[in-house]
Amino acid sequence: MAAKKTTISIVVPVFNEAQAIEILHKNILKSLASLASFAPEIVYVNDGSTDETLKHLESLRKENTFVKIISLSRNFGKENALSAGLALSRGDIVISLDGDGQHPPELIKSFVKKWQNGASVVIGVRTKTEGLGFIKNLTSFIFYKMFNLVAEQKLVPGSTDYRLLDRAVVSEFLKLTESDRITRGLIDWLGFNPEYLYFTAKSRIGGKETYSLKKLAQLGMNSFVSLSPAPLYVFGYVGMLIAFVSGLLGSVILVEQLLLNDPLGWNFTGTAMLGVLIIFLVGLVLISQGVISLYISHIHNQTKRRPLYVIDFKNSAGIKIEKK
Ligand code: UDP
Ligand code: MG
Repeated sequence: MAAKKTTISIVVPVFNEAQAIEILHKNILKSLASLASFAPEIVYVNDGSTDETLKHLESLRKENTFVKIISLSRNFGKENALSAGLALSRGDIVISLDGDGQHPPELIKSFVKKWQNGASVVIGVRTKTEGLGFIKNLTSFIFYKMFNLVAEQKLVPGSTDYRLLDRAVVSEFLKLTESDRITRGLIDWLGFNPEYLYFTAKSRIGGKETYSLKKLAQLGMNSFVSLSPAPLYVFGYVGMLIAFVSGLLGSVILVEQLLLNDPLGWNFTGTAMLGVLIIFLVGLVLISQGVISLYISHIHNQTKRRPLYVIDFKNSAGIKIEKK
């Protein structure tokens, strides 16, 4: 009897990718053809697309039954869509990649090779992105610099969601329950000695990028709040520093002006000093309140314990849900 084939799942979150999906699918099939010793499964997570994406997916499934479709009941965002895909994939190894063609499927083989050599997690790191605007390059650079400056858990600049996970890692990942999730950060947190695979990200096959600068800013903010409590401490430290400096300054003024009768001719009026100081401190208190409210909203989301996504079974195909 032949040994059971190792299954490989390709998980692709898609939101309005009607223009890209067929070309991408072809490239994935091409790449899988060179991995004939594996049994494939391609899991598309249709994240509430409003264009023809679902129709395209259904016709792809007609051609190959190893194409699975998970339709979410509305747009839940890429992070949650990816979690749905990971939860419902069945492969011994799972590779996630973007549905717009930016993560070249030709690399699937290289990911698998690293797994065959013993890696449980392989992370795709983009060294360059074709056609990426100056602003996005700059904001991404600033984000990684700032994040790595304050957070204990470092992020590798340019690391993407193009990743390979061993089943053992996926099982651990599925135990994580937090909302407001950044899949990349959670996988980094899991550890398992990741290996890195460097690549040049392509420009999209078609369609529009859905991550506007505003969404990216939100994602950046979420990464901070969900992965690191550092912003809370920063204001504590700044507060201490300011209390120390203003305390020192206050003492010096006290001695120089009041005890020694201003031998240096500083001529400080106490009210002026105090006014500036108070305004500064009020600003600081307000900022720190803002930061605290970020965390409270995070806790708030967490306490609701809503499911990360809702599946629309009528528009899904090929997936099995285990009854609890
Ligand atoms: N995506 C998704 N749900 C969303 C937004 C995006 O599933 O709400 C998918 C999208 O179809 C693509 C991937 O996530 O496959 C990455 O999105 P995009 O290319 O817009 O972002 P990028 O990371 O390239 O800026
Ligand atoms: Mg993209």
